Amino acid sequence: DPSDTVKIHIVRLQKRFVVVLAEDLGEEQRVNTMRRDFIANVSHELKTPIAAIGLLSEAVQQAADEPEVVRDFSRSLVKESRRLGELSRDIIQLSEAQSALRPEDREAVSLRDLVRGEVESHRSFATQHGIDLVVTDDSALDRDAMILGRPTSLGAAIANLLSNAIRHSPEGGRVGIGMSFDRKNFLVTVTDQGEGIPSEHLARIFERFYRVDGARTRGEGGTGLGLSIARHTMRAHGGDVDVWSQPGVGSSFTLTFPLHEPPGSRKSSKRAKKA
Ligand code: ADP
Repeated sequence: DPSDTVKIHIVRLQKRFVVVLAEDLGEEQRVNTMRRDFIANVSHELKTPIAAIGLLSEAVQQAADEPEVVRDFSRSLVKESRRLGELSRDIIQLSEAQSALRPEDREAVSLRDLVRGEVESHRSFATQHGIDLVVTDDSALDRDAMILGRPTSLGAAIANLLSNAIRHSPEGGRVGIGMSFDRKNFLVTVTDQGEGIPSEHLARIFERFYRVDGARTRGEGGTGLGLSIARHTMRAHGGDVDVWSQPGVGSSFTLTFPLHEPPGSRKSSKRAKKA
């Protein structure tokens, strides 16, 4: 394949130089393969709700004089079109999260307000699931953390962790969200008492469309993109998202936001002097 690249390495073996030819897929081809896989996955995910919507619409037409059947089918239609909406929303969010942050994308974001806003907008979702949503560690609440970032993406990262925690919790369970500082970061931790994630899946849950229990999770409304959106977003902002989980105990996801040096600190005053 002409797009394959061959790397030439020259290594020294005892007193001779040896030329080693190594086949390398090349970055471009690797990216192409990933892109192809992603499009195939997206098409596959879209196919199910689109087919269901088509069939259900025909069925509604045919059952026009049976109100009960029409009601049932309409309920399913609403569910499937909602699913389609969530998929397209997450695909757009993922593409936004994957694009590099341009200087004009960066706004001053109050992380404390962002977290509070997301907690409030998840209250009714938590109540519907019988979950107690509580701010557990408010040690960071009296001190705000401002970062320069894309608020829509950062909000989506927090929202995804909250909605995962709520969806994976048993009724009557508690989802805690904590905010704290370490030396260089503002940390947001979302903890649940859900089923947990077996260790062999932990490294893969951040991949696009990866689900621990495919059929079941899909049925519960996840698109399989949430954690991938969160990871891309956090890395684009110089931070990351990490997970701790134990089956039968629960899971805890931590978002790490690196803080910028406050003005007037040692380094920046040095720079100011130089200028
Ligand atoms: P989904 O839309 O399916 O939730 P995500 O990318 O958000 O997709 O998560 C990937 C998978 O990781 C989920 O399908 C689920 O199996 C697992 N997962 C994510 N969050 C949790 C959690 N809080 N508890 C248990 N499993 C989780």
